[in-house]
Amino acid sequence: MLEIRNLHARIAEDGTEIIRGLNLTVKAGEVAAIMGPNGSGKSTLSYILSGREDYEVTEGDILYNGESILELDPAERAAKGIFLAFQYPVEIPGVATMQFLKVAMNSQRKARGEDELTTPDFMRRVKEAAAELKINPDMLKRPLNVGFSGGEKKRAEILQMALLEPKLCILDETDSGLDIDALKIVADGVNALKRPDRATVVITHYQRLLDYIVPDTVHVLYKGQIIKSGDKSLALDLEANGYADITGQAA
Ligand code: ADP
Ligand code: MG
Ligand code: MG
Repeated sequence: MLEIRNLHARIAEDGTEIIRGLNLTVKAGEVAAIMGPNGSGKSTLSYILSGREDYEVTEGDILYNGESILELDPAERAAKGIFLAFQYPVEIPGVATMQFLKVAMNSQRKARGEDELTTPDFMRRVKEAAAELKINPDMLKRPLNVGFSGGEKKRAEILQMALLEPKLCILDETDSGLDIDALKIVADGVNALKRPDRATVVITHYQRLLDYIVPDTVHVLYKGQIIKSGDKSLALDLEANGYADITGQAA
């Protein structure tokens, strides 16, 4: 589903190369974890996948279902089913979460050339998704993220992900400010939304998240390259031994 080939990318503003020959393959149905020390380029990779303009790809390619997405803007990528969860959720005062979700779903439908959802259809889908994810719909009456706890922000994010029915989900989770309840919400959401035709890339500094999400594959990103790949046992090795062993080999 996702194939990244010899990707090199730099910061558009000052030309600093951050991604330096990165190769990664993620198959449909797979949950892939990307780990690595701070500053390795994990968040940069997620921004490049989503199509943010602050970064320039100078070499290599990103294939999604066999086709290059490098020329697509973020909205076109989203319309094709690529979903990037937000590391720092925006607060939207005055707009109920429910309304925000409806706008998000309808703009995606529009980009795909589909009709807008009717209100009853929308309500039915929200109720189904909220039930599947065990989210209390009362939260959806409040403005998005305003005064939300860390756990509530994660619930809103996972619900949005479920409603947009993405094919490729990319979640970039920092270790900052995530308590264990919030981690579990993310993990339960990823597990509940696992489908044979969907792939999820979970980027994390936080080995603990992988106590709750069992990844099919684990990749270590260091200095802009994937330097080691393995199964879930690699995450356990990293927890026990840290990154020094493998980053030492790569240096
Ligand atoms: P990680 O998520 O693995 O901690 P990042 O992708 O956030 O790593 O950052 C990788 C490196 O690139 C860091 O050294 C960071 O300071 C730098 N970097 C990323 N984006 C920018 C930017 N827009 N401007 C300046 N430096 C950046
Ligand atoms: Mg960082
Ligand atoms: Mg990061």
